Order: sequence, then C-alpha cells, then structure tokens
Amino acid sequence: MLTFEEFSKFCNVIEKISSTLELTARIAEFIKKIDDDKDLYNAVLFLMGRIYPPWDERELGVGVGLIYESIRIATGLSKRKIEDLVKETGDLGKACEIALKNKTQLTLFQEELTLQSLREVFDAISSLTGEGSQKRKIRMLADLYISASPLEARYLTRLILGEMRLGVGEGIIRDAIAKAWKVNVDIVERAYMITNDLGRVAVVAKNEGKEGLEKIKIEMHIPVKMMLAQVAESIDEAVREMGNVAVEWKFDGSRIQAHWDGERITIYSRRLENVTKALPEIVDEIKANVKKGVILDGEVIAVKNGKPMPFQNVLRRFRRKYEVSKMMEKIPLIVYFFDVLYYNAETIDLPLKKRREILLSVINESERIKIAKQVITNDTKEIERVYKEALDAGHEGAMLKNPSSLYIPGKRGKNWLKLKAVMETLDLIVVAGEWGEGKRSHLISSYELACIDPVTGKLQTVGKVATGFTDEDLEELTELFKPLIEYEEGKKIVFQPKYVFEVAYQEIQKSPKYESGFALRFPRFVRLRDDKDVDEADTIERVAKLYESQFKR
Ligand code: AMP
Repeated sequence: MLTFEEFSKFCNVIEKISSTLELTARIAEFIKKIDDDKDLYNAVLFLMGRIYPPWDERELGVGVGLIYESIRIATGLSKRKIEDLVKETGDLGKACEIALKNKTQLTLFQEELTLQSLREVFDAISSLTGEGSQKRKIRMLADLYISASPLEARYLTRLILGEMRLGVGEGIIRDAIAKAWKVNVDIVERAYMITNDLGRVAVVAKNEGKEGLEKIKIEMHIPVKMMLAQVAESIDEAVREMGNVAVEWKFDGSRIQAHWDGERITIYSRRLENVTKALPEIVDEIKANVKKGVILDGEVIAVKNGKPMPFQNVLRRFRRKYEVSKMMEKIPLIVYFFDVLYYNAETIDLPLKKRREILLSVINESERIKIAKQVITNDTKEIERVYKEALDAGHEGAMLKNPSSLYIPGKRGKNWLKLKAVMETLDLIVVAGEWGEGKRSHLISSYELACIDPVTGKLQTVGKVATGFTDEDLEELTELFKPLIEYEEGKKIVFQPKYVFEVAYQEIQKSPKYESGFALRFPRFVRLRDDKDVDEADTIERVAKLYESQFKR
C-alpha cells in the first residue's frame, strides 16, 4: 500500500521541478511503479489536488476555517499564531507544516497514513451533513493532523483545499499516463474526455493498455467534456472554410448536458458539476417531453416577459441549494438544446447534420424545452440576418457550425465558430479583497484580480476592481467569498483563489504596482464567471497581447 509519507516525499521532489518534460517523466516513473489499482487511482487524483472527479456530487465541504480549527487542536498553537504563519509563508500548507514542527502537544499514538486510509476519511467527511457535522469534521481532520508528519501536513492541507501547487495539471497527468504505459497521447485524451476521470483512465491504461482505452464508451450519468467554439474571424471566412454553414443563435446563458435514461436525469454544468437539484422544472419537462436513452447538449437561459435576463441569473439558479422553488418564480428558465451525444448508443461520431435529425426526433418542444433553430446556408447575407436577429432578441450573437463535423468532446476547433459583438474583457482570478467603508463596511467591496502564468501555474496580480457592482452583487459576493478567507490584515482580506470575474477596462498600462507588470485602468466588474475554473482564467500572455494590440488601433 502506498503511504502518504512516500507520496508527500514525491510531491516535495517534483514541487521544485519547473520543466514540464521532466515533471511528466518523473510522474510517469512514479505511477508506473504503483501495483495496486486503488493506490494508482488515488495517486493520480491527489497529484492534481482532486479527491473526486469534478462531476462527483461528493465534496468535503472543508474550508479554511475548519483547517485552522483542526490544526489548533492537533498542535496546541493559537489561531493567531497559525494566521501569522500563513502571512509569513503565503501558503496554508507550509503554515500547517511549520505548525506541526512547533507543536506543543505531545502525541502518544500515531497511525501511519496511507492514500487508502485518507480516502476512507475523506469519504466519511463528505457524507456528513446537518447539525454537528462541522464538529465531527474538525475532529476527523484533527486526527489526521495528529498522525501526520510535518511534510505530510503540507500536502494534506493543500489536497483538502484542492491546490497542490505542484504545477501538475490534467495535461501533464495525461502525458504521464501515455508515457508510463506506452500508449498514444490522443487515445488517453479521448478516454479522458469521455470519462472525465484520469484516475480511471490510468487504471485502464495499466491493466488493459491501448485496447482497453479504446473500448471506453460514453456512459449515462458520466458527463462528457463539451465541445467548444473559436472566435470567427469573419462570416466570409466561415463560408470559405465550411461551404454550407449551420447557423444558430448564440444564447447568452449557461451550458448544460442532460442525461436521461428513462428513470433518472442528471444535468451537468460546463464545469461538469452536477446541477440537477437546482433545476427541478427542467428535469420535469425533460421527463415529459424527451425520449429516454439520450444525452443532450444545450444552453439554459433565464427569461422574463419574453426577454432574456443577464447570464448571472442562470448561475444564481445553479448555485441555489435551498428554497429552489422560490427562485424558480424569480428566475424562470428555458433550455435550448442544440446537440445530442447519445441516443441508445454514442452519436458523437455522426456528422452534425445527422445528429440534428436525431435531436429533432427525440424532443417534443414544450414551454421550457426548446430546440435551437438552425439555418443551413452559404449565403453571407442570410448568416448576417440570423446574427442580427439574435442580437435584436437580446442574445449574444450567432454560432456557425460545420454541418459535416463530428462532435469532438473538449475540443475548441474550427468546426464551431462564435460570432459576437466585440468587447474585449478579461477573465481574472480573485485573490484578495477589501471591506467597504461606512454603510458598506459589512461588505467586501473591492476585489484584487490576478491572471495566470500557464507555465508555472503562478497567479500574478493585475489590478483591483471596485465598480460595476450592484448592491445585490456585493451582498451575494460577500457571502460567496467569506468561506475563502485565508486571513485578514486591517481591511485587506486574502482569499483562497477559487472564483473568476469577467472585467471590462478602459486600457491596460505597464505598471510596477502589480506582480504581472501590468495594471488595468478603470476596471469594471462585468460578471462572476462561475462556469470557469481558476486554470481557465486569462493568462499573462493574453494580457500582454491585449496591451500590445492597443498600439495597433
Ligand atoms: P464562449 O463561452 O464564448 O466560448 O462560447 C461558447 C458557448 O456558447 C458554449 O459553450 C455555449 O455555452 C454557448 N452557446 C450558446 N448558444 C449556443 C449554440 N447554439 N451552440 C453552441 N453553443 C452555444
């Protein structure tokens, strides 16, 4: 059995490596030596800072506060002391490591932690709900910290927070699996796009190799990565590339994938989170109006008095766990389905034209369940007409799709092009904030933003945003960010990076004030991009490119 000590030592070694090639090689070597399937599964997920695949409904529900409390119990150090350590190191993981080195509590009994024993504790923690669950979680975590060595505590903390700081993303793990069992990367990639579980992919690669991976098929209730779109350069170019173009409205809502087997429905968001419970009226209408045995792809929008409401409203519904019915009245939803990935068997390898026929045959349109209208044409005027029609109806623009293209999960390619009215915004990670003044002193009313360096995974600040928020936005954001507070210093608050804001700005300037070397002039909050993970935020390269492009205008 793989011990957590061995795992942590390995993490400590690779944490210092910045070359992607070397990281991949080291990880390949490490995972190849793991015999046990469970150990391999756990190691692969843990290296990425994941405990469950993204679509799994289980979550630890352990925030920074619970970690502070359990470390306090395990070490006898005061919260104040631990906070100081976090400020010094800028990393809760390292702070816990030092706390354990300095612990004043004597431990008599220490159990050796293994990856499997950790998973058992994580499963137990994630199953706790309701009254008293916080206390029991703290107790279980404190027990883990009591058994942990300082080095183990560093990685345990980071694992719980979902941020290993190893610079190991999905791409590196995918390449390492390919290297370890000598399988073509594309085959590993495809298996991953269909299962969204690299742990499972690694186990299949080890036991059954290439053939096993190729046999993996789409399964009901396991979400498939969604096909994405590129920006269309122009309508002319799209017609030149595709010939005939399938034109649809680009709805300004949120992507969903619905799995319906005749008994059960599950609905996943673009990040593949299970959002079924938040959408009861959609579930009911799918049951009544869609043939069973399908996986559908579409966009949910919020509509009031026939007009689309801003996109945040849909996310408000997605996040809602309680009093869902109240929200149903406030924010009515409609789904426009535009694709089908499965109908009693995979349909992704059929051309769009064929999938469209299937889509039309499985859905009976109803009040809330619609099929996106589609026009197939090679006439640029006609495409422009549909685009304008979509804008007039309050939507974002149009999608131009190649009618003979296959559905390639996770792919952002030339077969789907998006045509939007241009406004260059940035999607940036919220890393810190500040409490407001006067009547807003109970609200976090300014947010510091960072872009990402894709090579090192480091976050680099680019500015602060304090305008563009409504009072309602600030109330909601304050609630959302409170559990992420790592520590406070006067009015300033440092967050665990988790959420992405879309911001508009007037100009990008060079400035030594922020880590990126750039600063946004007059940044304005556009919306919370709850559908994006931190690693999907804009990169330092994109900021630099936008900076350069200002001079060309
Ligand atoms: P973007 O998020 O800007 O990359 O644009 C792609 C997104 O547009 C997709 O992920 C969908 O959420 C959304 N979308 C809206 N309408 C459509 C449509 N008719 N076909 C495909 N995607 C659509």
